[in-house]
Amino acid sequence: MDLGIRGKRALVCASSKGLGRGCAEALAEAGVDLVLNARGAEALDATAQAIRDRHQVQVTTVAADITSEDGRARVLDAAGEIDILVTNAGGPPPGMWQDWTRDDFIAALDANMLTPIALMTALMPPMIERGWGRVVNITSQSVKGPIAQLGLSNSARAGLTGYVAGTARQVAPHGVIVNNLLPGIHATDRADQLDGGVAEREGITLDEARARRRATLPARRYGSAEDFGAMCAFLCSQRVGFMVGQNVLLDGGGINATF
Ligand code: NAP
Repeated sequence: MDLGIRGKRALVCASSKGLGRGCAEALAEAGVDLVLNARGAEALDATAQAIRDRHQVQVTTVAADITSEDGRARVLDAAGEIDILVTNAGGPPPGMWQDWTRDDFIAALDANMLTPIALMTALMPPMIERGWGRVVNITSQSVKGPIAQLGLSNSARAGLTGYVAGTARQVAPHGVIVNNLLPGIHATDRADQLDGGVAEREGITLDEARARRRATLPARRYGSAEDFGAMCAFLCSQRVGFMVGQNVLLDGGGINATF
């Protein structure tokens, strides 16, 4: 399927590895030029070069913490005119409800709610002027089904989801389409980190923790960055013009719900 976005320019945040990289690869395959971001320059530059070699698109990199004001300013400066925005950042740490302090909540809100909102606020006005734009926010399955030990994530991402539900309807008349993409468990460093925590708590191996989790998924496997990237590229495409403010769950059937 021709996604109709060849020659567009996308900012993909937190994209040297994992789901962000999957999105960047799929957009590059569709002929989109990229601005990539992550904190660590080495992995970021290696990813950028691999994408240039494979897809012959232009790739600019900005090593910066996207959750800091200074980092965002540097990314936005380098980004220039952006048609497609994919927001992403690391997720908050797991823990127990009684241990989370106000500072923990503020950090989670900053990273996973206020950062994507700041990026949309900066980049959507020029999209509106040009009459075309796409935004995909990488959130989490925790928006549809809470993950108790990820209460900081549940809270921050629910806030972003509420913001998108309203704002997507305000910008849609101007050709700017905003949707959220909700990962269930995908085989990335983040999944290793969470499975590692389970293994440690329960006194089992990492492989046992993974096998246990796989068995809970109707698809009987973890998602891949390629699965995720393909859906992201579709949500950034011409084809998605009638889909406004939706929450697309990609979870191998893990959340047991009818809607
Ligand atoms: P990952 O494999 O750990 O990759 C994270 C990527 O983001 C890396 O490129 C990392 O590079 C970059 N990054 C992290 N924090 C950043 C920051 N503050 N500024 C700029 N770049 C940053 O994680 P992932 O699995 O792709 O997860 C992406 C998001 O989806 C996270 O919010 C996660 O909580 C959420 N999620 C993931 C899963 C899953 O199963 N994988 C499920 C539900 C939700 P640097 O470290 O060099 O910055």
